[in-house]
Amino acid sequence: MRMRGEKVQADVLAILHQRHGSMSAYDILAQLREANPKIAPPTIYRALAALTERGRVHRLESLNAFTACQCDHHQHAAILSVCDDCGAVEESVAPELLQALSSIAGKTGFTATRHVIEVHGICASCSGGPVPS
Ligand SMILES: [Zn+2]
Ligand SMILES: [Zn+2]
Repeated sequence: MRMRGEKVQADVLAILHQRHGSMSAYDILAQLREANPKIAPPTIYRALAALTERGRVHRLESLNAFTACQCDHHQHAAILSVCDDCGAVEESVAPELLQALSSIAGKTGFTATRHVIEVHGICASCSGGPVPS
């Protein structure tokens, strides 16, 4: 049972890595069903929850979708930039920004435990501008 769960997680991660954008749980399920028609939605949700927990996958709250983590350090809050044109998702890390947000929220005595930062816009290739290397 445990082995099977890990297999599903690996499959989900592979599917998300192929896509340079985000996918809904339903899209992922549809793709997995091509190889394994019997796979059930709760299996996918469990795999996504485990992958998100470990930072291998990030949840895009604004789109109710998931994207593969693009960097090596997995335990961080990512800043996710979403292209509204092609759907590409870019990931950036800015610990100082997270700290600043925590301290702003903390002014009222609030304790921040989780940051969700999503930026919508147009990516470099869709805007026709120079693509940074
Ligand atoms: Zn990441
Ligand atoms: Zn784009």
